[in-house]
Amino acid sequence: MKVTFPHMGHLWICLKAMLEYLGVDTVVPPPSTRRTLDLGSKHAPEFACMPLKLNLGNFMEASEMGADTILMAGGCGPCRFGYYAQVEYEILKDLGYNYRLVVMEPPEKRISELLSRIRQITGNRSWLEVIRGIKFGYRKARAVDELEMSAMRLRPREIIPGQTDAALSAALDEIAGAGRPEDLPEAVERAEEIMRGVAWENRPAIRVGLVGEIYTLLEPFANLDIERKLGRLGVEADRSIYLSEWVNDHLFMGLVRGIRSSRLYKKSAAPYLRHFVGGHGQETLGGAVYYKNLGYDGVIQVLPFTCMPEIVAQSILPGFSRETGTPVMTLIVDEQSGDAGLVTRLEAFVDLLAEKRRGKERLA
Ligand code: SF4
Repeated sequence: MKVTFPHMGHLWICLKAMLEYLGVDTVVPPPSTRRTLDLGSKHAPEFACMPLKLNLGNFMEASEMGADTILMAGGCGPCRFGYYAQVEYEILKDLGYNYRLVVMEPPEKRISELLSRIRQITGNRSWLEVIRGIKFGYRKARAVDELEMSAMRLRPREIIPGQTDAALSAALDEIAGAGRPEDLPEAVERAEEIMRGVAWENRPAIRVGLVGEIYTLLEPFANLDIERKLGRLGVEADRSIYLSEWVNDHLFMGLVRGIRSSRLYKKSAAPYLRHFVGGHGQETLGGAVYYKNLGYDGVIQVLPFTCMPEIVAQSILPGFSRETGTPVMTLIVDEQSGDAGLVTRLEAFVDLLAEKRRGKERLA
């Protein structure tokens, strides 16, 4: 059995660690590229959301490398994510791919439901080993998230252009390369040391909160590398969802304490949207309020074309923006999206934020 999974940012680092610790062979698909998207778009329904198309492309490319089993997250609710895995599987079957599908549905009541699902691919490994494997994958996810956060703080302040990105890439290699749980603490130290080596100066930066649909927030290919582009424009970004936080909320049922939780966003979304609309629609509004309360200069919502929960949020955000005076920009991505248009829009948005901040400073 050779297990593959879709790309979503650096998710592969923690899934590979967990599965290989549990003795499962993995095939990491090549990073998502134009080819991946073209492959998926060719065979997916035209109005399917972009993540489905990229997932399909990932599975087709992983099959070329020998993968025979797909590990996919499941879900439920008003949006299409709940039947994603099955639709992808059926399309691949029609195309002649001979994949086995394992869907990791989020546990409904107890964490033991998650452990049983993982055991579908790890065979009769002991519960203790399965728990250790999950912990190993989760610790890597947290380490990756912390490195990404530090890169977002450094980019607008770096002295040598591009040094943060080079450091981040080397630091992530350290985390990915830790083969056993006992190797991880030293790998984390080395990775932090690499990030500390970035030369920076303490200049003020415009601050922007990124909110929106999880896949497009986490996958740089899907969001046209928005975090790096903002960094190059002198913006310190933060995003409302990190992988380790999502895993803790949805798979661990909030067991890990001391990290941000989507409960916070649900609470702050209340004046604008009080109920679940699928995906991360409610968190998008809560995230916008959260960043406004932290004094961020603006908010950017990122979503795939036709994403239903985010369309709901998008229709409410203008009211939030008018009421609070927080500038909001919406970025909708699909297979037609291009770099040049985005850079122009980001430059205009950042100019507006800078002007607004100067105006506030003049009044102060
Ligand atoms: S949240 Fe949006 S992009 Fe994700 S599956 Fe649902 S509709 Fe598609």
